[in-house]
Amino acid sequence: VIELGTPTRSVITTCAYCGVGCSFKAELNGDELVRMVPYKHGAANRGHSCVKGRFAWGYAQHADRILNPMIRDSIDQPWREVSWEEAIGFAAARLRGIQEKHGRKSVGVITSSRCTNEETYLVQKLARAVFRNNNTDTCARVCHSPTGYGLGQTFGTSAGTQNFDSVMHTDVAVIIGANPTDGHPVFASRLKKRLRQGAKLIVIDPRRIDLVKSTHVEAAHHLALRPGTNVAVVTAMAHVIVTEGLFDEDFIRSRCDWDEFEEYAEFVSDVRHSPEMTEMLTGVPADALRAAARLYATGGNGAIYYGLGVTEHSQGSTTVMAIANLAMLTGNIGREGVGVNPLRGQNNVQGSCDMGSFPHELPGYRHVKNADVRAIFEAAWGIEIDPEPGLRIPNMLDAAVDGQFKGLYCQGEDILQSDPDTKHVAAGLAAMECVIVHDLFLNETANYAHVFLPGSTFLEKDGTFTNAERRINRVRKVMAPRNGYADWEITQLLANAMGAGWHYTHPSQIMDEIAATTPGFAHVDYAMLEERGSVQWPCNDAAPEGSPIMHVDGFVRGKGRFIVTEYVATEERTGPRFPLLLTTGRILSQYNVGAQTRRTANTVWHTEDVLEIHPHDAEVRGITEGAWVKLASRSGETALRAHLTDRVSPGVVYTTFHHPGTQANVITTDYSDWATNCPEYKVTAVQVGLSNGP
Ligand code: SF4
Repeated sequence: VIELGTPTRSVITTCAYCGVGCSFKAELNGDELVRMVPYKHGAANRGHSCVKGRFAWGYAQHADRILNPMIRDSIDQPWREVSWEEAIGFAAARLRGIQEKHGRKSVGVITSSRCTNEETYLVQKLARAVFRNNNTDTCARVCHSPTGYGLGQTFGTSAGTQNFDSVMHTDVAVIIGANPTDGHPVFASRLKKRLRQGAKLIVIDPRRIDLVKSTHVEAAHHLALRPGTNVAVVTAMAHVIVTEGLFDEDFIRSRCDWDEFEEYAEFVSDVRHSPEMTEMLTGVPADALRAAARLYATGGNGAIYYGLGVTEHSQGSTTVMAIANLAMLTGNIGREGVGVNPLRGQNNVQGSCDMGSFPHELPGYRHVKNADVRAIFEAAWGIEIDPEPGLRIPNMLDAAVDGQFKGLYCQGEDILQSDPDTKHVAAGLAAMECVIVHDLFLNETANYAHVFLPGSTFLEKDGTFTNAERRINRVRKVMAPRNGYADWEITQLLANAMGAGWHYTHPSQIMDEIAATTPGFAHVDYAMLEERGSVQWPCNDAAPEGSPIMHVDGFVRGKGRFIVTEYVATEERTGPRFPLLLTTGRILSQYNVGAQTRRTANTVWHTEDVLEIHPHDAEVRGITEGAWVKLASRSGETALRAHLTDRVSPGVVYTTFHHPGTQANVITTDYSDWATNCPEYKVTAVQVGLSNGP
């Protein structure tokens, strides 16, 4: 129960849950946070919020928080509380010792999409300037890395094209593999407002999400495809648009590479991509598919919004490119009301990718092989940068199992719980000589750690988050860090203990360095953010006011690039032993693995994940509402209660993954996106049967 006092002061800051990036007024009584009030001048939310941002901040005071650093010589020993000085010294000595023995590439870092831009920038800088390698990766690896690849290949940069307000000019909205009412509620409200004004909606999702039919809103088409067949459905829509002559030739001739378009048009025109052939593959009726394609192409401004139901597949990058093709084909890019928009899950997925977290890219999505780009950072940092890309998270773990990778600094991510193939992650961590976990709570990964560095919450630090519309929002310190240091200070302590000589005294200085080295941020500084509230990158000489909409006069890469997107079935197949397909998602009141939302003093939060199963599939298995069932895949098994619903089609089951007991990643496969290694969380062949419970 939260005791409410009378607020005596307030601080404007940004929600640390989802990629909408709502602004809040944190109201305090002295140093006690009393309530979070949605800020009416927040550009992303305009006074709106969801239940998480408004109420789920109690975890900052939760008794589970670790406030003192801890170390241990080996993971079979108990933790020992030590001073910050001893913990940082221990970590630095271990990492240096590993590098001396096993080489400079034997250690690496993982950045967090929950942390600020400034913190993320420093962690990748730690790898590049102090460890002297490019072994830096981010938790975006397991969510939106295909967005980075797919939009980079087609448009030239990894970012949504629109601001959220743009949806108020949309005539046809397409939602693919996303559930905005649960995942991005404040954006969903704005979309619903536009739908109530008469805009049309197409939903492409295996499950009947709320937007398909809710109060005053009904989708024109719900294409309930078989999980894993996104590419086939989107390509079939392109088939209809091309073969019926509904494409925007003027746009394509002026803005895209015409030769590549011709090759693409020939590819999609093939009869194997017709709605009739696609129906057999995807389960989507040909008539509905054809009608949806015609509506998107001819219904006015068409805007596509997508989520992890697009990216977390073995063809995640291919689907992102297929979506980009569709937008270019119809000229739905570069003005109000149109575009391609990834709905980012975590608060700072966009920012963590912008800040150079990936092992092949320096800040601003510039390849480490580019000597001119390296020279900018070499001049700023006073060191030489390795021109070879580093290791992705799965490669770090593989190398650890092989004895080549020995030390990891992991900030704000629980890879043991979040990443696929739990056994392999555990084996990789167990093989390392120094695992440093920097987090709020003793998470599952910490079971394999030698150093635990207590993290600070978003309420306890200054910085910026970048939301899904590229909007850089200020995060302001509401209270002193309970652990003693903000996260950026802890990274600096570690870097300096390894000889770095960094002297940042405020995150604004880190942002100044980002602006000096990263063209899209050239005009961004804290004084400007104070004055204007927020700004959308690119913000530089070419766009001093920022860029609400991208690719207005031309694509970042020059000509838009059509890419042939051949559908390749996932290697995960159903069969007699595992006849159903499992897909996963979120609910409104919980967040990811629930580390924060489960630690709020509020009894309305849901308390367990359930398995949605179609009544027909339940009946043949003797399963009734609320019964315990065993959910088994080729990888493992777990137990859940059943919920009978026709939200899922026969042959498909669905669950959320917010509770550790669900162990969703014991079930999922180790297949991943061909381009980025993003895990295929959304397609797992399973069997369901009655059980006695966990
Ligand atoms: Fe926070 Fe997202 Fe909810 Fe806004 S919509 S309050 S950013 S969780």
